[in-house]
Order: sequence, then structure tokens, then C-alpha cells
Amino acid sequence: NNTVKIGIVGYGNLGRGVELAVNRSSDMELVAVFTRREPSSIQASVPAYTIEDAAKFVDKIDVMVLCGGSATDLPEQGPLFARSFHTVDSFDRHAKIPEYFAAMDEVATAAGKISVISTGWDPGLFSLHRMLGEAILPEGNEYTFWGKGVSQGHSDAIRRVPGVKNGVQYTIPSEDAVQRVRDGENPDLTTREKHIRVCYVVKDVHADADKIESEIKTMPNYFADYDTTVYFITEEQLQAEHAAMPHGGTVLRSGTTGSGNKQIMEFGLQLGSNPEFTASVVAASARAAYKMAAAGQRGAKTIFDIPPAYLSSESPASLRKRLL
Ligand code: NDP
Repeated sequence: NNTVKIGIVGYGNLGRGVELAVNRSSDMELVAVFTRREPSSIQASVPAYTIEDAAKFVDKIDVMVLCGGSATDLPEQGPLFARSFHTVDSFDRHAKIPEYFAAMDEVATAAGKISVISTGWDPGLFSLHRMLGEAILPEGNEYTFWGKGVSQGHSDAIRRVPGVKNGVQYTIPSEDAVQRVRDGENPDLTTREKHIRVCYVVKDVHADADKIESEIKTMPNYFADYDTTVYFITEEQLQAEHAAMPHGGTVLRSGTTGSGNKQIMEFGLQLGSNPEFTASVVAASARAAYKMAAAGQRGAKTIFDIPPAYLSSESPASLRKRLL
């Protein structure tokens, strides 16, 4: 049969999300999970194995979905797995994508495999809409707003401040800025004008709240260029009210055509769970990777290279009839 056999490498938030998405797809089947931890410690719906055991699955798995972190896991695991499997990942270090693409392309091309890199929502669906906006409205401006959502990097940064026990950071787009873009003003927006940052901090009992607040607000790269608000809360409040991982945002293209008519394109996401949504895009991309390979393609690919209908489990005829 034509069921796409899937393996998951790395069982964190994204890995668990891919498991849920694949188990809901009638045309894909989850075969195994691979982890650097003791496999017996992993509670998944399929058996877990070590990374080394993956070599035994070359004939049993079509696409390996790489769910490790972008900072250090994927640069190592990507080229390793692309040697033996078609792969999909959500590598999200935008500035490093050309370098990562080149490394994956070399290995996958030599192995006769497909590697879809950097899929998800940003990079991923947002990149696609930035590209479409520019292609269709070359005379115009692009605006990406993120949030409201939890930024993992900024949350990690506040947790490193001395006296901070725990914390969560929300990135929130400025409503005024979004409205000005929607109104077709084509504004020049500074970093400070586009987003605000809100932090919920649990401090050590004896730590000085004012000192923590000023250290957060003046932190270079992370907070200094933004208007930041800091709230001190208890660990219980943090667990009860801020444990979810919502995110989302909006990609806008504001341009003009022909006789000077204003045209606005907008693509938005409001995500209750960032990792589960990312995983759903990644799972659909795994299906597409399999079809691209079946069509004879090789090497590293991004969302720009995926024929849209390949993401769907439906036949082209059914898609034409129902959705065109
Ligand atoms: P996690 O930190 O949850 O997982 C990363 C890895 O850490 C896992 O693969 C797992 O590897 C290991 N791990 C997970 N839980 C534990 C644990 N309890 N103890 C020890 N190790 C653990 O990261 P996410 O799944 O949330 O995110 C993965 C990547 O997804 C991010 O780095 C980011 O780059 C990307 N991403 C991309 C998006 C996009 O739109 N393109 C959006 C969101 C995320 P192992 O099983 O081998 O131990």
C-alpha cells in the first residue's frame, strides 16, 4: 500500500506534536521514535529506540521527521539522517538557513534523498506568504508581526537574570501598528513601534524586584529596544495561567498595482499550541517529501519548492473538484 512510514527523531514538544498529527492521518503511519535518552523512559504510542538503532530501519521508514532543537541538534542530526532517509525538519535560525541548506543538500543529493528543511510557520507558512506577497505585489512593503505568543528565547533570557526563579515572556504586536498597515499607510515602523514585550516573573523570596525589573528592561538585544512590562507573580499563578504555548502572528503585504490601486494581502495565525501547529505543518511536509521523492526529485528543499497539492492527502482530482 501507499502509506508513508514515518519515524520521529527527538521526542520533545515538537516530536509529541508530530506523533499526534501522524496518528490522525490515514495516509501516514508512525513506525518508531528515536531518542538520545534511555528509550524505556519514553512513553510514546510506538516503540522508542536509540539514535544508533535507526540504521536498522532503512527499509521500514520512508521519512524521518527531525524534531531536535535548531541550535545544536539539527546541525548534527540533519546531515546524519539525510544519508539514509528522506527527512523533514523545522530548523528556525533564519540567518543560518543558507548554510544549513547547503550542508543538507550535499548529503541528500549524494544519497538520492529528499530533505525538506525549515518548514513550520516561521520559517514555513509565513515565508511562503512573504514570498507570494512580493511576487504578486512587487511595488509594496512587507510586514511580519508576531504574537501574541510565548517566545522561548526571551523566556530563557529572563530566567537567566539573577534572582529570577521562573518566567514567561509574551511578544505582542502593537495593535496601532497593525491597523496602520491594514489601512494602507505603508508606515516605516521602528522595532519599538511594532511589538511590545510582557514578562511574568517568579522571583526568589529575598530578591529585589526593582533590580530584576530594570535588569530585564535594559537587556541588550532582547528587551532594550522594546517597551517592556514586568509583572511579578507566584509559581502557582505561572503554572496555572502561563503553562500553554500559544503563538501566531500576521504577514501583511501592502502594495499598489497598475493605475495605483491599493492592494493588501494578509495571512494570519492564532495558535493555541505553537509546537502542535508546527508539528502539523511538518507532518504535511513529510507527505510532500515522500511525493517529491516518488517524482524523482533529490536534495534539500524548502516550502518554496513544495507543489502545494503534495501537502494534501487528497487526490489532485478531488482537490480540483472540492476546493478550486
Ligand atoms: P524541545 O526542547 O521540547 O525538544 C528538543 C529536543 O530535546 C527533543 O528532540 C529531545 O531529544 C530533547 N528533550 C525533550 N524533552 C526532554 C526532556 N524532558 N529531557 C531531556 N531532553 C529532552 O523543543 P521543541 O520540540 O519545543 O522545539 C524543537 C524545535 O522546533 C525548536 O528548536 C525550533 O527550532 C523548532 N520550531 C520551529 C518552528 C517553525 O515555525 N519553523 C516553530 C516552533 C519550533 P531526545 O528525545 O533525543 O532527548
